[in-house]
Amino acid sequence: MKKRIPFIAGNWKMHMTIPEARDLAASIVKASLELNEAELVVIPPFTALKEVKKVIEEGPVQLGAQDVYWEDKGAFTGQISAPMLIDAGCQYVVIGHSERRQLFGETDMSVNRKIQAALRHGLLPIVCIGESLEERDKLMTMARVDTQLEQGLDGLSQESVSKAVFAYEPVWAIGTGKTATPAQAEEVHAHIRERLAKKYGNEIAACAIILYGGSVKPSNAYSLAKEENIDGFLVGGASLEASSFIQISKEALRAYKERN
Ligand code: PEP
Repeated sequence: MKKRIPFIAGNWKMHMTIPEARDLAASIVKASLELNEAELVVIPPFTALKEVKKVIEEGPVQLGAQDVYWEDKGAFTGQISAPMLIDAGCQYVVIGHSERRQLFGETDMSVNRKIQAALRHGLLPIVCIGESLEERDKLMTMARVDTQLEQGLDGLSQESVSKAVFAYEPVWAIGTGKTATPAQAEEVHAHIRERLAKKYGNEIAACAIILYGGSVKPSNAYSLAKEENIDGFLVGGASLEASSFIQISKEALRAYKERN
């Protein structure tokens, strides 16, 4: 059975000019030498993908994109397809980020089509799920993530699901400075793993990488990563500085080593 390793991805969102992106990537590549037991992924805006790829080359740091469209090509102004992302050097793509769901009309159905398109071309999806504050207050967290998983993964084979990375990102914790407590996050991560086990089998669930995202910082990374079902992080704000992204990665690795 494949062992889960710490996985830390930095979502740069709509930040970074090309020179800034190159500098940030170069600092992360330098630090990655000490972090070779973890999977580090940088996720720049589309405009910087190709240049960041030149900086990270074929080294240990991987490249991801922030979104993908489900068609391969055609009259879809403003969209970027999976073959284009592969061409730019991406291994991963974030799908269903809550900002895309809230601000750009992403639905579980479009998430499903995007996951299928990514996998068809060999891109590994980082599938984001998570509840709003209102849903948490109404005790609907588990129901919300169940629906997102059910509809987002609809029709996917076991083999396809085994290639996905999951990111539990409570909407109320993203960019707000409010982090889920380790216990709150672990409860949902354990639930997600259980759901994956029920639907796709124990082995796929045991190997699934489930990240936490939502105001992760160097100061809270260790306690979150100590939890059994938290395999790493999808980091937004704190990934824009090399020092905090690297420190978060080190804390995740330290916690992982103590756990194993
Ligand atoms: C994110 O963008 O996925 C995220 C978790 O952002 P932040 O770390 O800034 O909350």
